[in-house]
Amino acid sequence: MTENVADAVEAELAEMSSRLTEPGERECLRCFLLRMLEQFGCDGTHRWTVRWRDLRSPGAKGLIRRLERQGACCCDCEVILNVYPYYPHTGPLLPCAGVLRAGSSVPCDLSALRRSA
Ligand SMILES: [Zn+2]
Ligand SMILES: [Zn+2]
Repeated sequence: MTENVADAVEAELAEMSSRLTEPGERECLRCFLLRMLEQFGCDGTHRWTVRWRDLRSPGAKGLIRRLERQGACCCDCEVILNVYPYYPHTGPLLPCAGVLRAGSSVPCDLSALRRSA
């Protein structure tokens, strides 16, 4: 009995956190990673990159390997530092401007947001 309750709570927590960590429909990989790293940090793996890929671009089997070649050898922060280094330094994170094609790993264009700010 108590076990069932614990299971239910756990399932609910898992569902809640999976909603929190879900990439938006048009959210680019870069904005998603920044959001996740700010909230949950890096655990030294590509877990957020893998999550984004599984949910948004499940066919992109070579994505991680491609990012590794671009300098993100071991973890999500390196994807940000080495693959997507151009981000306006505005303090709080900007909302993702959205990518044209859902699942594209090309970062969104934040310059439009910056100009209007
Ligand atoms: Zn890291
Ligand atoms: Zn974005």
